[in-house]
Amino acid sequence: MKTALISHPDCHGHVTPPGHPEQVARMDAVLGALQDLDLMRVSAPMAAEDDLLRVHPKSHVTAIREAAPETGFRSLDADTHMSVGSLAAGYRAAGAAVRAVDLVLQGEAGNAFCATRPPGHHAERETPMGFCLFGNVAIAAKHALDHHGLKRVAILDFDVHHGNGTQDLVEDDARILFCSSHQMPLYPGTGDPSETGPHDTILNVALPDGSGSKAFRQAWEGTILPRVEAFRPELIMISAGFDAHRDDPLAGLQLVVEDFIWITARICDLADTLCEGRVVSCLEGGYDLAALGESAAAHVKVLKERSDG
Ligand SMILES: [Zn+2]
Repeated sequence: MKTALISHPDCHGHVTPPGHPEQVARMDAVLGALQDLDLMRVSAPMAAEDDLLRVHPKSHVTAIREAAPETGFRSLDADTHMSVGSLAAGYRAAGAAVRAVDLVLQGEAGNAFCATRPPGHHAERETPMGFCLFGNVAIAAKHALDHHGLKRVAILDFDVHHGNGTQDLVEDDARILFCSSHQMPLYPGTGDPSETGPHDTILNVALPDGSGSKAFRQAWEGTILPRVEAFRPELIMISAGFDAHRDDPLAGLQLVVEDFIWITARICDLADTLCEGRVVSCLEGGYDLAALGESAAAHVKVLKERSDG
């Protein structure tokens, strides 16, 4: 089976103010780096209201709809802005993740990568933040559970920032294991290892500024992956942020492209053992355009090799 690549031109329509790191050019960097790969290219649908409402209250969805400006920008906080096209992009980014889950669980694709923006892992139940409007990965994980009837889903987040939004959206649900490695201290300030959730299904590993390959791989090999194996997920979702790369301007971890290849392969190894290789990965951060393109392409190449093989 092929690897699905899910995206939509509307994701280019989410324009951020000049100088903002979460910029339209990120889409070109990622899609340009993937253009020569033989992938199943799928157009992202808009997320259904029912899917958004599995994790966000109606008041949040309404607030985002009403915040969308008719011209120019509207700022939701110091970092998070909406342009005329942002609402459509937000619905496509969440819809892509849901479609990816459908394709993989229905056996139409071996695994999937969503090249979309805005990202999602900082969006809390009622609070858009950190460039994020809706919790894309959490929405899709709940869809896998509630619509497809899965019993356990793991969400693995290697973005350099803590996925506070995903944690907020899933920690009440014992069917979801959320694991995150991230630089700490760093935005958004959450993600201390003491945050384990009411069902002990949250696992946070904090890495100090300057940590590189060795500390990152130790965290995953020694702590996170054994926990995933013990949880026995039926689907593994990835919040794939590439901002732990050493060239990234927003953080201080020192990963290189080989680390993203390594973590992708290790996650695929687990997925092969536990859940017939079912992996759905969604783009989160990554703000050095060259490092982002190279890292995302390396990540998707591993997914493709595993799906084709
Ligand atoms: Zn990030």
